[in-house]
Amino acid sequence: MAEVAGAGTVIVGAGPAGLLLAHLLLQAQPKPHLLPVRVFEARNDPRTPLPQYKERQYCVGLSARGQDGIKRVPGLWEEVEKRGMPSSQFVLHSGKRAIALKRNPGKPSLLINQRALAATLVTELVNRYPKDHLEVHFDTPCERVDFKTRTASFNGKSVDSVPYNLLVGADGARSAVRNEFITQRGFDYQQTNMPYTFKVLYVPRPAELSEEAVHAFRVTKEDAIEENGKQSSWFKLPFSGTAEKTSLRFSCFPTPGNGMSVLIEWSPGTTPVELLSIKSAEELKAYMEKYMPPLKVPLEAAEAFINQRPTSSMKVFCSRFHDAGGKAVLIGDAAHAMSNALGQGCNSSLQDVVTLSQSLCEEDDLTKALERYTKKQTQEDHAASYLSEFSFPQAKWVLPFFYLGNIAQPALGKVLPPSILAPPIQSLCSETLTPYSEIVRIHKRWLSFVEITNKMAASKGPSS
Ligand SMILES: Cc1cc2nc3c(=O)[nH]c(=O)nc-3n(C[C@H](O)[C@H](O)[C@H](O)COP(=O)(O)OP(=O)(O)OC[C@H]3O[C@@H](n4cnc5c(N)ncnc54)[C@H](O)[C@@H]3O)c2cc1C
Repeated sequence: MAEVAGAGTVIVGAGPAGLLLAHLLLQAQPKPHLLPVRVFEARNDPRTPLPQYKERQYCVGLSARGQDGIKRVPGLWEEVEKRGMPSSQFVLHSGKRAIALKRNPGKPSLLINQRALAATLVTELVNRYPKDHLEVHFDTPCERVDFKTRTASFNGKSVDSVPYNLLVGADGARSAVRNEFITQRGFDYQQTNMPYTFKVLYVPRPAELSEEAVHAFRVTKEDAIEENGKQSSWFKLPFSGTAEKTSLRFSCFPTPGNGMSVLIEWSPGTTPVELLSIKSAEELKAYMEKYMPPLKVPLEAAEAFINQRPTSSMKVFCSRFHDAGGKAVLIGDAAHAMSNALGQGCNSSLQDVVTLSQSLCEEDDLTKALERYTKKQTQEDHAASYLSEFSFPQAKWVLPFFYLGNIAQPALGKVLPPSILAPPIQSLCSETLTPYSEIVRIHKRWLSFVEITNKMAASKGPSS
């Protein structure tokens, strides 16, 4: 089937990956059959301001790879930077212990709310490109795509069925575009539910938590109630009504204007039933402030938390990222949603975009360009997924080895060559552009060890 004049590129999903791809494609002045670029998003316009504390979306940390992608569009990084907070520290709290894992202060990550990131990317797109080259449609979910007729169908007020020359599935872990790939022969696909669920609470940042760091707390039943005869100084969740083996994780991300986004995560069988059963904002505020004393919870924040549905994440594996006909492609979470433990989901997604736009510019034949993209990115994204799953030990007895390695490396790394003591996985992932596949090679022994011990810990249950 020949290219259709005016059908151009259809991007499904206006998350970071879809929006950055629109920027890079339009900037490169693509071949005429790839124009116009049309972006379709299921949710509402992220530029619509939400009341303070009503933001539902979590923060992501944009590190070296994400920054590299955004910086390829002149002036875009400067706009994104205004909406986030630089951070080069990660502090792990367990009971009364706090271990600061410092990263290179010269290479901070940018912590930014998902919606603020999308809003900035959209604003810059519509300011830079005319309507005959770019269309962005919100509240327009894609329902299905047909590779034979090369059309995408939407359930929107103004759009129904749209033809395309190139279709990009940038519609996240639960991708509708991917559903059509699954019907194709030779496309190997697996999806796995991640073993945790989360809700996000927005609050003012307590002075005790520095604005330069992400603070992560793991609260187990023992930590919360009693540690060496005393209550934990931070969180005192009673955990009554929950399973015996309870453990909650709190990740606190500073946000601009002295705010803080608190990601509260739990695993199956450890659901904080009491916390989740509270239905009044006053009650939730009182509960949070009693058991998490440093937090001051505005009533609007408590209400937003109550109204929020818990979200569970999904891991996705695709054996290739383009369709057999060579006219459709998957990028970002649609292609490879992964555990957020290493903070590389968005960063790797933005690297997909760099590779895809380069392949499309350098290769005249569309099918060959997509094959080239798949060849490079499947290897890299599968490696990123593996690193995300097995860099951090779950078994308690392995944790001291992990801390020791991370604390000793900065000092010993100055005297020992990288061939003897390599930089930690987190530093290589977040501060450098070292390919993920190379990082797997460098840290092969540690990763294999953690893979075995994590699987053993998982089979024993959450408090092992
Ligand atoms: C709690 C948490 C913390 C994280 N922290 C980090 C971090 O620190 N660093 C990091 O790099 N990554 C992090 N990630 C991962 C990161 O959020 C994702 O990898 C990233 O958002 C992927 O971008 P994307 O554009 O591919 O997909 P998404 O951001 O999921 O965007 C997809 C878009 O498609 C839209 N859509 C979905 N279905 C349809 C449809 N049928 N039609 C039209 N539109 C549709 C969605 O509404 C959405 O806007 C985290 C994830 C979670 C859950």
